[in-house]
Amino acid sequence: MDPLDVIGNLHNVKPVYQPIISAIRQDVKGHEVLGRYHDGEAWQSLRSFFMHPDVPEEFKVEVDQHLLTVALEKVMAEGVGGLLFINRSAKELMVNDGEDLLDTLLEFEEKGFDLSRIVIEVREHDFDEDFEALNHLLLYYKTFGIMIAVDHVGAKSSNIDRIRQLEPHILKVDTMHIRNHDSQGFQDIMYSLSMLANRIGAAMLFETIEDDYQLYFAWKHGGRYYQGFYLAEPSFEFATKDSLRVDAVEKVNQYIRREKALVERRLRFVLSWEQRLKERVLKWEGPKKVDQYLERLTSEFNEESFRMFICDADGIQVSSNFRKRQEEWEPEYNKKGSNWAFRPYFLENVMQMKTWNKGLLSDIYSDIETKELIRTFSFPLTDQYFLFIDLNYSYIYENEFLLM
Ligand code: CA
Repeated sequence: MDPLDVIGNLHNVKPVYQPIISAIRQDVKGHEVLGRYHDGEAWQSLRSFFMHPDVPEEFKVEVDQHLLTVALEKVMAEGVGGLLFINRSAKELMVNDGEDLLDTLLEFEEKGFDLSRIVIEVREHDFDEDFEALNHLLLYYKTFGIMIAVDHVGAKSSNIDRIRQLEPHILKVDTMHIRNHDSQGFQDIMYSLSMLANRIGAAMLFETIEDDYQLYFAWKHGGRYYQGFYLAEPSFEFATKDSLRVDAVEKVNQYIRREKALVERRLRFVLSWEQRLKERVLKWEGPKKVDQYLERLTSEFNEESFRMFICDADGIQVSSNFRKRQEEWEPEYNKKGSNWAFRPYFLENVMQMKTWNKGLLSDIYSDIETKELIRTFSFPLTDQYFLFIDLNYSYIYENEFLLM
């Protein structure tokens, strides 16, 4: 597509709108505005026009201004509520100090459009441009109530500091990564992103959701907003809750049922392991015979575990490690005397066990020694001694409720 054709035929350029669904009420929270160009035969996406480095920024600004004006006129004419997400590259925003965009928005504010309904999407890879100038401009926009979203978050992992500085209202996460990359790597990125979102008070929006699994993943990972073909394609008309491809209310209800069932199974697992141990604990004969005690337990948990040890309330390991290698359990005497209190949650968990006299199942995590995903079941033998049983990966893998 020739950029001159686009710019010379703005009457053939029209916005389409892709709805963004809220997890909270499962209805349409707003729309992202995207561009289409009619080349005489069909409507084409303007993505290549906007992405092409040789197209002058002034051209892009002009087309974007046209799209925005048409979109705002339609919103006002039809009395459509909700947010309007618009895309701007850093370079576009820098043309004329970003005044064109603000002028248009202020013009519509005078006609009664509330600027707090505007969300400007900037792409994370644009941070390599003049970040300070961009940050200043966006800060200025914010004073008008305009919201900021960072688009394609997680594409580069090195920008956490800049995202923090920008304090965006929304982080847009491309769900495509779940398909393209290994799911484990993406889960780790997700974990950091959701921590970051929590710390800076940003909502997470998952985009390019194309199937049920991705929607479930987004919901499960704290996604407040969803967008993608699975819910609705971009359209010349605004979407409503009823025009969506799936019943979002029913979907969320399914996920709630699924999640509750998983939690329930984990709780039942803790109860049953507590029961097994209570029957065994009768034979606890104090710290002097701790290794003999553990050795007896190895046969009890031979299938589920690969490592066990016992610590006191200060985190000091009072037993050897019992470590399973090639089907044989071996004591590792040199581990005795290690102090594990520095590990995250260690003392918190010990105090929990002591206070409630209950076993605990950890979250899933990567073991430092084996690099495999494991969980640890911990149990108060007395109010001074605590048993730790590391579950092996194959056992976790066989039991879905442990894997999720
Ligand atoms: Ca976007």
